[in-house]
Amino acid sequence: MDLYTLHKAHVLTPWSAQAALNPPLIVRGEGAYLVDQEGKRYLDLTSGLVAVNLGHGHPRVVRAIQEQAQTLCYAPPSFFHDKRALLARRLSELSPWPEGARVFFTPSGTEANEDALKMVRTLTGRFKVLAAYRSFHGSTHGSSALTGENRRFAAEPAVPGALHFFAPYPYRSPFYTLDPKEEVARALDHLERVLLHEDPARVAAIFLEPVVGSNGVIVYPEGYLEGVRRIADRYGILLVFDEVMTGFGRTGAPFAAQRLGVLPDLITFAKGVTSAYVPLGGVLVREGLARRFDQEVLWAGHTYSGHPLAVAAGLAAVEAYLEEGLFERGRLLESWLKEGLGALWQKHPFIGEVRGLGAFFALELVKDRSTKEPLSPWHAPLSPAMQGLVRALLREGVYVMAKHNILIIAPPLTLKEAELEAGLAALDRALRGLEVEAG
Ligand code: PMP
Repeated sequence: MDLYTLHKAHVLTPWSAQAALNPPLIVRGEGAYLVDQEGKRYLDLTSGLVAVNLGHGHPRVVRAIQEQAQTLCYAPPSFFHDKRALLARRLSELSPWPEGARVFFTPSGTEANEDALKMVRTLTGRFKVLAAYRSFHGSTHGSSALTGENRRFAAEPAVPGALHFFAPYPYRSPFYTLDPKEEVARALDHLERVLLHEDPARVAAIFLEPVVGSNGVIVYPEGYLEGVRRIADRYGILLVFDEVMTGFGRTGAPFAAQRLGVLPDLITFAKGVTSAYVPLGGVLVREGLARRFDQEVLWAGHTYSGHPLAVAAGLAAVEAYLEEGLFERGRLLESWLKEGLGALWQKHPFIGEVRGLGAFFALELVKDRSTKEPLSPWHAPLSPAMQGLVRALLREGVYVMAKHNILIIAPPLTLKEAELEAGLAALDRALRGLEVEAG
């Protein structure tokens, strides 16, 4: 049996590989490229799942993992460990709070949100939590309950007390506005009404992705996050930013909180902290709040909390970001992406909107710009047109994550300009092919 058939026969794959896309069988990674079993190279324009921020095979991180594996592969989370302490100090220095932060390590982003949910309930003594409809926060029951889109349905009924609200989405306004200022005003009014109906004294926290990630890279209009912060403060509610996608340089700063200038109380992270080489996530809690856990029991913990291989990889990755100026490089990529994707928008009527921040962009594809009818419906598998586009890109040797009618363009922060140009030329041809087919 060839390896491809072997994989299909024995591995249960997630929803994203179930469409008839015949994904390639990957055996190697080199910088911005994935290499399949036949040696074909794929330029990875989404950094895996917006995670491999340093590209594949960064020597410093690989070396750190090798050295750690030779020294110690496991230490119980209740023991102290050198690299846990060193990485936690680094993360506190990188955090947006002048007071610093303490870190609770988890194996993944899902568990970071799961534990943040426990923390905000413990810290406030309240149990309700609010999150946005167009959000993803993870795949366990608590994080699914926070999630606002269809990936939560399989977990329902999930955890009681998690409620949703609409956040701004200027391209398809849930508030029927065309003006970003009006959108912000209505969205904040809506949020406060939801709160008042739920009784703010029962609400522990508001969870938000500061830039919506897998549900379309929606950059909130100016004033929204500031307004959410004000509302949270008015009612003594904690604000949690889920920076699993936006953290570690994705938006042109260590965290989006810094790029956007709004301070939450907790930040959940994963992915980019090790450039996804080893699973690691965590919750950053600002020092003033974290101190409470000196008295209060934190009923949380995982066999793999702060796994030595993971924290060694995280420490080396953070040093690489700092030394190579990669936390800021997202801003350079932003200027290239704005220009390159903007030029594609000029040419291709299937592109309804180009939006993004830092090295984090989306193309929202439509059948028709005037009606904005999506190229693939929201609560359904990828339409034949979207599947055709993804297949055409794979034939071209380009990987771009597709969800519904959204293509996410989030290349490694180390991407070279010529690599991006080649990727955008392939995208141009694939979109042209789609348009020829549609007549
Ligand atoms: N939050 C966000 C914003 C995410 O994008 C993801 C993963 N795509 C998660 C949480 C869950 O992280 P993980 O897959 O590491 O469990």
